[in-house]
Amino acid sequence: MNRILVFAFCLLLGQQCFCWGFYAHKKINYYAVFLLPPEMLVLYKPSANFLMEHAIDPDKRRYAVAAEGSRHYIDLDRYGVFPFDSLPRNWNDAVAKYSEDTLQAHGIVPWWIQTMLYRLTDAFKEKNQAKILKLSAEIGHYIADAHVPLHANSNYNGQLTDQKGIHGFWESRVPELLAEKEWDFFIGKGEYIKNPGEFIWARVLESATASDTVLKFEKELSQNFPTDQKYSFEDRNGITIRQYSSSFSKAYDSKLNGMIERRMRQSIFAIASFWYTAWVNAGQPDLTKLSNKDFSADDLKEFEALNNAWKNSSVKGREHE
Ligand SMILES: [Zn+2]
Repeated sequence: MNRILVFAFCLLLGQQCFCWGFYAHKKINYYAVFLLPPEMLVLYKPSANFLMEHAIDPDKRRYAVAAEGSRHYIDLDRYGVFPFDSLPRNWNDAVAKYSEDTLQAHGIVPWWIQTMLYRLTDAFKEKNQAKILKLSAEIGHYIADAHVPLHANSNYNGQLTDQKGIHGFWESRVPELLAEKEWDFFIGKGEYIKNPGEFIWARVLESATASDTVLKFEKELSQNFPTDQKYSFEDRNGITIRQYSSSFSKAYDSKLNGMIERRMRQSIFAIASFWYTAWVNAGQPDLTKLSNKDFSADDLKEFEALNNAWKNSSVKGREHE
């Protein structure tokens, strides 16, 4: 029921819910919990619902804070061609070369994830449970976004190639149709990441490479698919909506050869590994002995403000992410 409401709501807003879709973001954070060692599970397992529900806070914040948008993507094609060597991976070097305004305009996700990792590590050092949980939920969001191919391409919704809607198609429609029934999220254990910057840049470069395939395959499939079967119409709570048909969605998924499932699995692995890395770098504090076990009045106010902004405002800045 909730999902249907959210979905109908997205449509009312004019297809503004992008970013792995709320559905996939929640799943990804939730599954990441189970890749953690027992010393972390003592906190993360009882908090799995919180981590899942708050996986989408960064998207809600886009309705309240203008600076939020650029934290969810990076238009790598603005910096030349793969492997985009002209763009320094180090933030200060990149600012010196391009100016902060330019970097913000084209998106900052790989750097923002590293900022969030420092914050999460500090929260572990402070042994502050409320902070650990909030930051864990949010870093999960940004890491998952970095794995979405169209978050690394300026043609992020196929708007330049007459493929409008492909963003939500790849990251919402297909996962909602297949993740539960057909995909496997059994994924060993998270691992310590020695060089988080290098790790996340590698993932973002993979996303940029995959984005060409994401666009090209949809184009090819559309050309070979009966036009009247590409979309289907469904009644949702009294609203008739047009969406990519299940046969088109499945055909696209198999043409992509498991790419969406793979990126979802990699997101889950990366999130657990970042959580684990922050905990290790903070000296592996005992998570049964934390302070700030309850969210403060300010935290609760912030959660409410995010919900209100999301329900009552429009996105500040670029629509996707
Ligand atoms: Zn996002």
